[in-house]
Amino acid sequence: MNKETTNEGQRVEDQILRATLRGHKGYHFDEQHDPNRPADFWFQESAEGPILFVVFYSQACRWSRCLGCNLPARMSQKHVSYQALISQVDYLLNHPEVQPRCSSLRKVIVSNNGSVLDEATFSSTALIYLIAKLNLHLPQMSVLCLETRAEYVDVAELEFIARALKEGATPTTLELGIGFEAFDDRIRNQVFKKGLKLEQFEALCRKVATYGFGLKCYFMQKPVPGMTDEEAVLDTERAIDYLSEKSREYGIRINLHLNPTYVAFGTVLEQCFRKGEYSPPKLKDVARAALRAEGKPITIFLGLSDEGLACKGGSFIRPGEEQIVQTLHAFNRTQDFAVLRGVASNSHFDRAESRL
Ligand code: SF4
Repeated sequence: MNKETTNEGQRVEDQILRATLRGHKGYHFDEQHDPNRPADFWFQESAEGPILFVVFYSQACRWSRCLGCNLPARMSQKHVSYQALISQVDYLLNHPEVQPRCSSLRKVIVSNNGSVLDEATFSSTALIYLIAKLNLHLPQMSVLCLETRAEYVDVAELEFIARALKEGATPTTLELGIGFEAFDDRIRNQVFKKGLKLEQFEALCRKVATYGFGLKCYFMQKPVPGMTDEEAVLDTERAIDYLSEKSREYGIRINLHLNPTYVAFGTVLEQCFRKGEYSPPKLKDVARAALRAEGKPITIFLGLSDEGLACKGGSFIRPGEEQIVQTLHAFNRTQDFAVLRGVASNSHFDRAESRL
């Protein structure tokens, strides 16, 4: 590392620490993780085909203050070199679980539990290397999704990435994964501390529309204490209406990724949960809210895992609900709204199950 990189790494480290204190986080960063291995990866099935989701291990999110988020706990507070990130790419694509699926994967979602387009925490060299490797090894890849906060989106950089993606065997489009978490402005920015204004998001819509890119918008159902189950359903429904309107207005593809909120350890949400002031949403209500997207121009993906980040007892999957989760996975694969109707109206659940 040269002196400039060292100073920048230290500056970012201080920034992360300040934000973590400001967000009253009680977790530690994971400094024990081998920097030559990704933090995690897994596979998903969607209507778009098989997906590889990878979380690279890098320096943590610089924002680090969102109320219910402990994603930075899986990352390092310190700078992670581009050499280490390149080793992570190699490790991933050579992994015995990934290699045999390379020829059929249709989509890759790239995360670092923060912003992949923030070059201070995720090296540009490593990102270019990743794209080159994906072009070489994933001949069927049709979508590459990069998770990032909106402020790091640089159009010149995206144009360059999009050009590189066109060189693969199958034309690949770019999608940006943006965390929204809640639709209500007050809940999103004052309570959850997301720091995302609708004007910022709409400016992003205009940018991606120019280049024909897509958007994946992450929402959480019932992300904060003080929200009733009904208010949480309404917030998700309003998000669906809003994104549908923007999809039509700008002619862009939008996927709403809806995560039922789990109680992340080391957060203010955990403190509220311990005091009995918060309970995660019911899966039935998540299905009910998602039903709003039927007939709309956007697609929905339900996030059905807590990625091992929930505190004890803080999962949204209550005992005995494992079968409901399996049923909801079927919705992700098919976008068949009858599946959601079955889960939402408990009485029809058995019938929905037998159809799968
Ligand atoms: S939700 Fe995203 S932006 Fe907010 S602290 Fe977590 S990783 Fe950072």
